[in-house]
Amino acid sequence: MALIIDGKKIRDHNLAIMKKEVEELNSKNIYPCLCVIIVGNDPASRVYVNNKKKACENIGILSREYALPTDTETSELLALIDKLNNDEEVSGILCQLPLPVQIEEKTVLERISPEKDVDCFHPYNVGKLVQGDAVLKPCTPNGIITMLDYMGYNIEGKNCVVIGRSNIVGKPMAQLLMERNGTVTVCHKKTIDLKNITSRADLIVSSVGKPKFLTADMVGEGAVVIDVGMNRDENGNLCGDAVYDEVEKKASMITPVPGGVGPMTITMLMKNTILAEKIKN
Ligand code: NAP
Repeated sequence: MALIIDGKKIRDHNLAIMKKEVEELNSKNIYPCLCVIIVGNDPASRVYVNNKKKACENIGILSREYALPTDTETSELLALIDKLNNDEEVSGILCQLPLPVQIEEKTVLERISPEKDVDCFHPYNVGKLVQGDAVLKPCTPNGIITMLDYMGYNIEGKNCVVIGRSNIVGKPMAQLLMERNGTVTVCHKKTIDLKNITSRADLIVSSVGKPKFLTADMVGEGAVVIDVGMNRDENGNLCGDAVYDEVEKKASMITPVPGGVGPMTITMLMKNTILAEKIKN
Protein backbone atom coordinates (compact mmCIF):
# COMPACT_ATOMS: atom_id res chain seq x y z
CA MET A 1 0.00 0.00 0.00
CA ALA A 2 1.30 3.39 -0.96
CA LEU A 3 2.00 6.25 1.38
CA ILE A 4 -0.53 8.96 0.61
CA ILE A 5 0.90 12.36 -0.21
CA ASP A 6 -1.55 14.61 1.60
CA GLY A 7 -1.80 17.85 -0.39
CA LYS A 8 -4.02 19.55 2.18
CA LYS A 9 -1.58 18.88 5.01
CA ILE A 10 1.37 20.12 2.93
CA ARG A 11 -0.66 23.16 1.86
CA ASP A 12 -1.50 24.03 5.49
CA HIS A 13 2.14 23.61 6.52
CA ASN A 14 3.31 25.97 3.77
CA LEU A 15 0.53 28.52 4.26
CA ALA A 16 1.29 28.75 7.99
CA ILE A 17 4.90 29.66 7.14
CA MET A 18 3.73 32.21 4.55
CA LYS A 19 1.26 33.78 6.99
CA LYS A 20 4.14 34.55 9.35
CA GLU A 21 6.16 35.91 6.45
CA VAL A 22 3.31 38.24 5.47
CA GLU A 23 2.99 39.44 9.08
CA GLU A 24 6.69 40.25 9.10
CA LEU A 25 6.39 42.14 5.82
CA ASN A 26 3.34 44.03 7.10
CA SER A 27 5.32 45.11 10.17
CA LYS A 28 7.70 46.81 7.73
CA ASN A 29 4.78 48.43 5.89
CA ILE A 30 5.09 46.01 2.99
CA TYR A 31 1.77 44.62 1.77
CA PRO A 32 1.72 41.84 -0.85
CA CYS A 33 -1.27 42.34 -3.13
CA LEU A 34 -2.67 39.99 -5.78
CA CYS A 35 -4.92 41.25 -8.59
CA VAL A 36 -7.14 38.65 -10.19
CA ILE A 37 -8.84 39.44 -13.49
CA ILE A 38 -11.85 37.39 -14.55
CA VAL A 39 -13.61 37.93 -17.87
CA GLY A 40 -17.11 36.52 -18.35
CA ASN A 41 -19.25 34.15 -16.32
CA ASP A 42 -17.58 30.75 -16.56
CA PRO A 43 -18.72 28.96 -13.36
CA ALA A 44 -15.49 26.98 -12.94
CA SER A 45 -13.42 30.18 -13.31
CA ARG A 46 -15.63 31.84 -10.68
CA VAL A 47 -14.89 29.01 -8.23
CA TYR A 48 -11.13 29.24 -8.92
CA VAL A 49 -11.11 33.02 -8.46
CA ASN A 50 -13.07 32.79 -5.20
CA ASN A 51 -10.64 30.16 -3.91
CA LYS A 52 -7.68 32.37 -4.77
CA LYS A 53 -9.24 35.33 -2.96
CA LYS A 54 -9.99 33.17 0.07
CA ALA A 55 -6.40 31.87 0.19
CA CYS A 56 -5.12 35.47 0.11
CA GLU A 57 -7.46 36.43 2.95
CA ASN A 58 -6.36 33.46 5.05
CA ILE A 59 -2.72 34.47 5.08
CA GLY A 60 -3.13 38.24 5.03
CA ILE A 61 -2.33 38.94 1.36
CA LEU A 62 -4.40 41.81 -0.05
CA SER A 63 -6.47 40.84 -3.05
CA ARG A 64 -8.35 42.78 -5.69
CA GLU A 65 -10.78 41.33 -8.19
CA TYR A 66 -11.49 42.83 -11.59
CA ALA A 67 -14.58 41.19 -13.09
CA LEU A 68 -15.07 42.19 -16.73
CA PRO A 69 -18.05 41.40 -18.98
CA THR A 70 -17.91 38.53 -21.49
CA ASP A 71 -17.79 40.91 -24.47
CA THR A 72 -14.62 42.67 -23.26
CA GLU A 73 -12.19 43.46 -26.10
CA THR A 74 -8.49 42.62 -26.01
CA SER A 75 -7.63 46.35 -25.96
CA GLU A 76 -9.71 46.95 -22.84
CA LEU A 77 -8.05 44.08 -21.02
CA LEU A 78 -4.61 45.32 -22.10
CA ALA A 79 -5.44 48.79 -20.76
CA LEU A 80 -6.33 47.30 -17.38
CA ILE A 81 -3.13 45.24 -17.30
CA ASP A 82 -1.07 48.36 -18.14
CA LYS A 83 -2.71 50.18 -15.27
CA LEU A 84 -1.94 47.33 -12.85
CA ASN A 85 1.61 46.93 -14.17
CA ASN A 86 2.20 50.58 -13.23
CA ASP A 87 0.43 50.39 -9.88
CA GLU A 88 3.06 50.44 -7.12
CA GLU A 89 0.71 48.71 -4.72
CA VAL A 90 0.26 45.64 -6.92
CA SER A 91 2.63 42.69 -6.42
CA GLY A 92 1.06 40.11 -8.70
CA ILE A 93 -1.43 40.00 -11.58
CA LEU A 94 -3.21 36.98 -12.89
CA CYS A 95 -5.74 36.63 -15.63
CA GLN A 96 -8.04 33.67 -15.03
CA LEU A 97 -8.12 31.32 -18.02
CA PRO A 98 -9.86 30.47 -20.25
CA LEU A 99 -10.61 33.89 -21.74
CA PRO A 100 -13.57 34.45 -24.10
CA VAL A 101 -12.77 33.60 -27.74
CA GLN A 102 -12.52 37.19 -29.01
CA ILE A 103 -9.62 37.92 -26.65
CA GLU A 104 -6.07 37.26 -27.85
CA GLU A 105 -4.87 35.21 -24.91
CA LYS A 106 -1.20 35.19 -25.87
CA THR A 107 -1.09 38.99 -26.26
CA VAL A 108 -2.76 39.40 -22.88
CA LEU A 109 -0.46 37.03 -21.02
CA GLU A 110 2.61 38.65 -22.58
CA ARG A 111 1.43 42.09 -21.47
CA ILE A 112 1.64 41.24 -17.76
CA SER A 113 4.92 42.58 -16.46
CA PRO A 114 7.30 39.62 -15.89
CA GLU A 115 7.94 40.83 -12.31
CA LYS A 116 4.19 40.61 -11.58
CA ASP A 117 3.58 37.41 -13.56
CA VAL A 118 2.67 35.17 -10.62
CA ASP A 119 1.29 32.44 -12.90
CA CYS A 120 4.69 32.33 -14.65
CA PHE A 121 3.23 32.30 -18.19
CA HIS A 122 5.27 35.20 -19.61
CA PRO A 123 7.94 34.09 -22.13
CA TYR A 124 10.58 35.92 -20.06
CA ASN A 125 9.78 33.78 -17.02
CA VAL A 126 9.51 30.64 -19.14
CA GLY A 127 12.98 31.46 -20.51
CA LYS A 128 14.36 31.97 -17.00
CA LEU A 129 12.90 28.60 -16.05
CA VAL A 130 14.62 26.88 -18.96
CA GLN A 131 17.90 28.53 -17.94
CA GLY A 132 17.41 27.17 -14.42
CA ASP A 133 17.32 30.74 -13.19
CA ALA A 134 13.65 31.34 -12.36
CA VAL A 135 12.51 33.31 -9.34
CA LEU A 136 8.79 32.97 -10.03
CA LYS A 137 8.07 29.33 -10.82
CA PRO A 138 4.93 27.85 -12.41
CA CYS A 139 2.47 27.03 -9.68
CA THR A 140 1.36 23.44 -10.33
CA PRO A 141 4.82 21.98 -11.10
CA ASN A 142 6.39 23.93 -8.25
CA GLY A 143 3.67 22.64 -5.95
CA ILE A 144 4.65 19.10 -6.95
CA ILE A 145 8.33 19.74 -6.19
CA THR A 146 7.30 21.20 -2.83
CA MET A 147 5.27 18.06 -2.07
CA LEU A 148 8.16 15.77 -2.97
CA ASP A 149 10.50 17.83 -0.77
CA TYR A 150 8.03 17.63 2.10
CA MET A 151 7.91 13.85 1.72
CA GLY A 152 11.72 13.71 1.77
CA TYR A 153 11.89 12.32 -1.75
CA ASN A 154 15.22 12.98 -3.42
CA ILE A 155 14.72 13.54 -7.17
CA GLU A 156 18.41 13.46 -8.04
CA GLY A 157 19.31 10.60 -10.35
CA LYS A 158 15.75 9.30 -10.49
CA ASN A 159 14.15 8.12 -13.70
CA CYS A 160 11.27 10.63 -13.98
CA VAL A 161 8.51 10.24 -16.56
CA VAL A 162 6.14 13.12 -17.23
CA ILE A 163 3.04 12.24 -19.25
CA GLY A 164 1.77 15.38 -20.97
CA ARG A 165 3.64 18.32 -22.50
CA SER A 166 1.38 21.31 -21.93
CA ASN A 167 2.87 24.74 -21.25
CA ILE A 168 1.10 24.86 -17.89
CA VAL A 169 2.04 21.46 -16.48
CA GLY A 170 4.11 19.00 -18.54
CA LYS A 171 6.88 21.19 -19.94
CA PRO A 172 7.61 23.23 -16.79
CA MET A 173 7.38 20.04 -14.72
CA ALA A 174 10.11 18.49 -16.84
CA GLN A 175 12.26 21.61 -16.37
CA LEU A 176 11.90 21.62 -12.59
CA LEU A 177 12.67 17.90 -12.35
CA MET A 178 15.76 18.43 -14.51
CA GLU A 179 16.79 21.34 -12.28
CA ARG A 180 16.76 18.81 -9.41
CA ASN A 181 18.97 16.43 -11.42
CA GLY A 182 16.23 13.98 -12.32
CA THR A 183 16.59 12.12 -15.63
CA VAL A 184 13.45 13.17 -17.42
CA THR A 185 11.37 11.64 -20.21
CA VAL A 186 8.38 13.60 -21.50
CA CYS A 187 5.58 11.56 -23.13
CA HIS A 188 2.64 12.66 -25.26
CA LYS A 189 0.09 11.31 -27.72
CA LYS A 190 2.72 10.31 -30.26
CA THR A 191 4.86 8.43 -27.74
CA ILE A 192 5.37 4.84 -28.78
CA ASP A 193 4.90 2.12 -26.18
CA LEU A 194 4.09 4.41 -23.29
CA LYS A 195 3.64 1.49 -20.91
CA ASN A 196 7.19 0.34 -21.50
CA ILE A 197 8.47 3.81 -20.55
CA THR A 198 6.25 4.44 -17.53
CA SER A 199 6.69 0.98 -16.03
CA ARG A 200 10.44 1.63 -15.68
CA ALA A 201 10.01 5.02 -13.99
CA ASP A 202 10.92 5.82 -10.39
CA LEU A 203 8.60 8.82 -10.53
CA ILE A 204 5.56 9.28 -12.77
CA VAL A 205 3.82 12.62 -13.15
CA SER A 206 0.58 12.11 -15.04
CA SER A 207 -0.89 15.29 -16.54
CA VAL A 208 -3.10 13.87 -19.26
CA GLY A 209 -6.60 14.83 -18.17
CA LYS A 210 -8.29 11.49 -18.82
CA PRO A 211 -9.96 9.37 -16.13
CA LYS A 212 -8.67 5.79 -15.74
CA PHE A 213 -5.72 6.57 -18.01
CA LEU A 214 -2.91 5.41 -15.73
CA THR A 215 -3.49 1.74 -15.02
CA ALA A 216 -1.54 -0.51 -12.63
CA ASP A 217 0.30 -2.30 -15.46
CA MET A 218 1.84 1.06 -16.45
CA VAL A 219 3.38 1.53 -13.00
CA GLY A 220 6.44 -0.27 -11.67
CA GLU A 221 6.55 -1.73 -8.18
CA GLY A 222 7.49 1.03 -5.70
CA ALA A 223 7.17 3.96 -8.10
CA VAL A 224 6.07 7.38 -6.87
CA VAL A 225 2.90 8.52 -8.66
CA ILE A 226 1.88 12.16 -8.91
CA ASP A 227 -1.58 12.49 -10.40
CA VAL A 228 -2.20 15.98 -11.78
CA GLY A 229 -5.40 15.07 -13.65
CA MET A 230 -8.61 16.78 -12.61
CA ASN A 231 -11.36 14.86 -14.32
CA ARG A 232 -14.93 13.78 -13.75
CA ASP A 233 -15.75 10.08 -13.59
CA GLU A 234 -18.94 8.48 -14.95
CA ASN A 235 -20.80 9.54 -11.78
CA GLY A 236 -19.64 13.13 -12.07
CA ASN A 237 -17.16 12.82 -9.20
CA LEU A 238 -13.75 14.48 -9.31
CA CYS A 239 -10.99 12.00 -10.15
CA GLY A 240 -7.43 11.97 -11.42
CA ASP A 241 -5.76 10.13 -14.32
CA ALA A 242 -4.86 7.07 -12.27
CA VAL A 243 -7.03 4.07 -11.52
CA TYR A 244 -6.37 4.90 -7.90
CA ASP A 245 -7.33 1.65 -6.17
CA GLU A 246 -5.11 -0.42 -8.48
CA VAL A 247 -2.15 1.93 -8.78
CA GLU A 248 -2.06 2.63 -5.06
CA LYS A 249 -1.26 -1.07 -4.45
CA LYS A 250 1.92 -0.87 -6.53
CA ALA A 251 3.16 2.64 -5.82
CA SER A 252 5.32 3.57 -2.84
CA MET A 253 3.75 7.04 -2.68
CA ILE A 254 0.75 8.53 -4.47
CA THR A 255 -1.24 11.76 -4.58
CA PRO A 256 -5.01 11.32 -4.27
CA VAL A 257 -7.54 13.31 -6.29
CA PRO A 258 -9.02 15.37 -4.75
CA GLY A 259 -6.65 16.40 -1.98
CA GLY A 260 -3.33 15.90 -3.76
CA VAL A 261 -1.78 18.28 -6.27
CA GLY A 262 -4.85 20.57 -6.41
CA PRO A 263 -4.38 22.34 -3.05
CA MET A 264 -0.71 23.00 -3.86
CA THR A 265 -1.37 25.11 -6.95
CA ILE A 266 -3.01 27.98 -5.07
CA THR A 267 -0.40 27.63 -2.32
CA MET A 268 2.35 28.30 -4.86
CA LEU A 269 0.39 31.26 -6.21
CA MET A 270 0.52 32.74 -2.70
CA LYS A 271 4.25 32.01 -2.59
CA ASN A 272 4.80 33.77 -5.91
CA THR A 273 2.79 36.80 -4.78
CA ILE A 274 4.97 37.19 -1.69
CA LEU A 275 8.11 36.68 -3.78
CA ALA A 276 6.97 39.23 -6.37
CA GLU A 277 6.41 41.78 -3.61
CA LYS A 278 9.85 41.05 -2.15
CA ILE A 279 11.47 41.53 -5.58
CA LYS A 280 9.68 44.87 -5.92
CA ASN A 281 11.13 45.98 -2.62
P1 NAP B 1 -3.60 19.53 -21.83
O1 NAP B 1 -3.10 20.85 -22.25
O2 NAP B 1 -4.85 18.98 -22.42
O3 NAP B 1 -2.43 18.47 -22.05
C1 NAP B 1 -2.64 17.11 -21.93
C2 NAP B 1 -1.38 16.40 -22.36
O4 NAP B 1 -1.63 15.00 -22.28
C3 NAP B 1 -0.97 16.69 -23.81
O5 NAP B 1 0.41 16.99 -23.86
C4 NAP B 1 -1.30 15.40 -24.56
O6 NAP B 1 -0.39 15.08 -25.59
C5 NAP B 1 -1.15 14.37 -23.46
N1 NAP B 1 -1.94 13.19 -23.77
C6 NAP B 1 -3.28 13.12 -24.06
N2 NAP B 1 -3.61 11.85 -24.35
C7 NAP B 1 -2.48 11.11 -24.27
C8 NAP B 1 -2.18 9.74 -24.48
N3 NAP B 1 -3.12 8.87 -24.86
N4 NAP B 1 -0.91 9.34 -24.29
C9 NAP B 1 0.06 10.19 -23.92
N5 NAP B 1 -0.16 11.51 -23.72
C10 NAP B 1 -1.42 11.96 -23.88
O7 NAP B 1 -3.85 19.50 -20.24
P2 NAP B 1 -3.09 20.25 -19.03
O8 NAP B 1 -3.49 21.67 -18.98
O9 NAP B 1 -1.66 19.90 -19.02
O10 NAP B 1 -3.81 19.52 -17.81
C11 NAP B 1 -3.74 18.13 -17.66
C12 NAP B 1 -4.65 17.69 -16.53
O11 NAP B 1 -4.20 18.30 -15.33
C13 NAP B 1 -6.10 18.13 -16.68
O12 NAP B 1 -6.95 17.15 -16.11
C14 NAP B 1 -6.17 19.40 -15.86
O13 NAP B 1 -7.47 19.67 -15.38
C15 NAP B 1 -5.23 19.05 -14.74
N6 NAP B 1 -4.63 20.20 -14.06
C16 NAP B 1 -4.66 20.20 -12.72
C17 NAP B 1 -4.08 21.23 -12.03
C18 NAP B 1 -4.13 21.22 -10.54
O14 NAP B 1 -3.89 22.23 -9.92
N7 NAP B 1 -4.38 20.08 -9.93
C19 NAP B 1 -3.48 22.29 -12.71
C20 NAP B 1 -3.42 22.24 -14.11
C21 NAP B 1 -3.99 21.18 -14.77
P3 NAP B 1 -0.25 15.96 -26.96
O15 NAP B 1 0.62 17.13 -26.57
O16 NAP B 1 0.42 15.04 -27.90
O17 NAP B 1 -1.64 16.36 -27.35
